[in-house]
Amino acid sequence: MKNILNKKLVERYSRQIVLKDVGPLGQKKIIKSKVLVVGAGGLGCPVIDYLSRAGVGNIGVIDHDKVNTSNIHRQSLYNSRDIGKFKVSVLKKKIKLVNPQVKIKTYKEKIEKKNIKKIFKGYDFIVDGSDNFKTKFLLNKYSIKYKKILIVGAISKMDGHIFTFDFKNKKNPCLKCFYQSEPSDEVLNCEREGILGPLAGIVGNIQAIEILKKILNLSKESNKKILILDLLNLNFRKAEFNKKKNCICKNF
Ligand SMILES: [Zn+2]
Repeated sequence: MKNILNKKLVERYSRQIVLKDVGPLGQKKIIKSKVLVVGAGGLGCPVIDYLSRAGVGNIGVIDHDKVNTSNIHRQSLYNSRDIGKFKVSVLKKKIKLVNPQVKIKTYKEKIEKKNIKKIFKGYDFIVDGSDNFKTKFLLNKYSIKYKKILIVGAISKMDGHIFTFDFKNKKNPCLKCFYQSEPSDEVLNCEREGILGPLAGIVGNIQAIEILKKILNLSKESNKKILILDLLNLNFRKAEFNKKKNCICKNF
């Protein structure tokens, strides 16, 4: 661990090193951490941006889409000149400028059963920035299997949901414990349902904070809770849920 923090880096991260919950040791943990972000859209952009600023040393990003005009109102790493370019190519260049210390590995593909094992292998923390339940449940299943920490986010209209799952502890519940049946993806269809742009930033930034707390071993209380944001009424609440007896998470 020694010598990771030279003078220049101490200065770069000084405002968070000064936090008693971070300190030089915490900063070294952040620098050594490996986080995979699935999806480089509304949630993925703030997660990648802030985690790279915080100094997360290894960030993987998987996304197969190109930037289109309708993305820009909420996907904060892209601007009008990026339209038509692959999201991962654009953000890789931008993150290099934000923090050259970050090793960013991009995957221009879709996460699927056939590639997930190989991609998951290099990371301890998984951030769900996907826009569909099929992907969320796939990440849930394999995060249980490979004992990852998974932060799930979902956004629609002016509502957001955030879950923190820690599968290093077998007593913790999973996404299936909460949603016994898979919800329809129509709920998350932002083309049809609409979404207020800044909501993506709020939920993505909370996901980034949850990741940093997990890296720093600060969060224990969020493992069995969902955070529900209702921005229209400025209502933030936590709801607790437990592990279900016959859920897919019991056999792992
Ligand atoms: Zn479960």
